[in-house]
Amino acid sequence: MTAKIIDGKIISQQIRDEIKKQREEFENKTGIKPGLAVIIVGDNPASVTYVGMKKKACAEVGFYSEEHKFDEDVSEEKILRLINELNNKKEIHGILVQLPLPDHISEPKVINAILPTKDVDGFHPVNVGKLVIGEDCFKPCTPAGVQEILIRSGIETKGTHTVIVGRSNIVGKPLAVMIMQKAKGADATVTVCHSRTKNIAEITRQADILIAAIGSPLFIKKDMVKEGAVVIDVGINRVDDNKSSKGYRLVGDVDYENVKEVASAITPVPGGIGPMTVTMLMKNTLKAAMSSVN
Ligand code: NDP
Repeated sequence: MTAKIIDGKIISQQIRDEIKKQREEFENKTGIKPGLAVIIVGDNPASVTYVGMKKKACAEVGFYSEEHKFDEDVSEEKILRLINELNNKKEIHGILVQLPLPDHISEPKVINAILPTKDVDGFHPVNVGKLVIGEDCFKPCTPAGVQEILIRSGIETKGTHTVIVGRSNIVGKPLAVMIMQKAKGADATVTVCHSRTKNIAEITRQADILIAAIGSPLFIKKDMVKEGAVVIDVGINRVDDNKSSKGYRLVGDVDYENVKEVASAITPVPGGIGPMTVTMLMKNTLKAAMSSVN
């Protein structure tokens, strides 16, 4: 079997075109342009790249965007003060703080300071709580991207055994909650594995849908995947590559070249979940702007 390659770039472009159209209609009707503020601390190369992608996506769909850049040694108080200003700024509908933050700044404190109605990353406890009980909320962008790519690729989750490897607060845990809901693109029986899971391959081999969010290059090998399973790779890892002008290349958490021989469908890295994440951020920002007039 050779897997169908699920192209996140194409699906993501379709959604961005839809968002652009909805933004135009909304702006024509209300005179309001959706606005996103991004806060970045330090110069972590991956964070700088992600913020650049978010800015570009805003321009593409016609949103207003602001970038607030701080040195690594900025005080927590200064960040909290800025968040308070942005909470009150009417041109801004979504606020995103690029994580991770330096150790001297408390991430929970910063996330808690964002108004839940502007929390387009979906990390505020109010949104997390609503997610768990299945209420309307901002869904975290990467899990939302995974769910959307499954829906738009016509992959049925209902009744499947979906195995997620990874239990972080930004990917694995919220994704597990979303996929187990009584809802479209969900209704799965979910198993979550992590670094303390015993005999992980025995569990991953039971998956109809296997989702890797580990942060370990090529961790999921061919013999860990059931013939015909759908494999979604959330991982983005830099590995040294002296053939590349950058000195590195990006690989996922899945041993793509070998796993695609047994899977029925698979997402590549790059070009799978990565572009979907940024697109879901645009979707959340539009939702925040639209909700601001209700
Ligand atoms: P974290 O490091 O926060 O979490 C990793 C999870 O994987 C943890 O739950 C950890 O277990 C588990 N894990 C680590 N090693 C093993 C192992 N050997 N066996 C089983 N489980 C293991 O990472 P994130 O969730 O933030 O990110 C995961 C990956 O997804 C990264 O590569 C990241 O770059 C990528 N990512 C991609 C995004 C995108 O847009 N496509 C967005 C966000 C992340 P434990 O809890 O026990 O430590």
